[in-house]
Amino acid sequence: MIKIDLHIHGAPWENDWAAYRRSVWHAWRAGCEYIGISEHGPRFNHRAPYRSLYFCEFDRYFNTLDEIKLEFEGAAEVLTGFELDYNEWMVEHYRDLLPELPLDFVIGSVHTVKDWVMGVDGSFEESSLSGLDSAGVYEAYFEELMNAARTGLFDFIAHPDLVKRYLLRLGFANPANPAPIYQRAVEMLRACEVGIEINTRGLLTAAGEYYPNDDFLRECARAEIPLTIGSDSHDMVSAGLGVAEAVAHAWRIGFRQIHIWRKRERIALNI
Ligand SMILES: [Zn+2]
Ligand SMILES: [Zn+2]
Repeated sequence: MIKIDLHIHGAPWENDWAAYRRSVWHAWRAGCEYIGISEHGPRFNHRAPYRSLYFCEFDRYFNTLDEIKLEFEGAAEVLTGFELDYNEWMVEHYRDLLPELPLDFVIGSVHTVKDWVMGVDGSFEESSLSGLDSAGVYEAYFEELMNAARTGLFDFIAHPDLVKRYLLRLGFANPANPAPIYQRAVEMLRACEVGIEINTRGLLTAAGEYYPNDDFLRECARAEIPLTIGSDSHDMVSAGLGVAEAVAHAWRIGFRQIHIWRKRERIALNI
């Protein structure tokens, strides 16, 4: 069964730049044939600093990945990506920037919903969402996801139901009937020709399951949304972790292909 990992971070702001080579090596050792590095692009969000590259680091990033590509030639194909936050204020920057960059693929992510930065404790209480209940928060998150798809800037959306992890942290249950939200979101993905991933990192968090959950995945399989697989590794050794199981899971859900992107062009691979 084919193994790919299109969601890997080196996180040089907390590791060092050798983390990219080490991550690729770990993914290759785990048997991955296609290995995508997808560092967090600039966020310009003072509420979540130290978690992304700056513009001034771009040359170093792309040069580093070019060398790693050469190093692994014939062993695995290394693909150059970015994970970019969807934020209203960043869309125009991205629109100018992306055509200039030597990227194979671009991941769109929702880590903030309006002024709520999901990974930052206390941010929800201070945000304009603080009066909402679980269903309201869930819906607001998926609205942002649909806004991200609508931009047409991204090849696929990362960890599509990431919000479940933060609902738990806030003491909220998942909403009782998310099906209509899923249907709307998947319809939008299809209309905008945007893919999703199975993100295995969900298994390692309090969420205890893949992002997204099986109900959302089934809806995607029915709508033939392009699918890829990512570990979302930030620590080198997790690169390529669990991707074989994720591909088997995709098959059980009903997918028969997974995807990579090369120079922003989608390529289907049979499972
Ligand atoms: Zn992410
Ligand atoms: Zn990520």
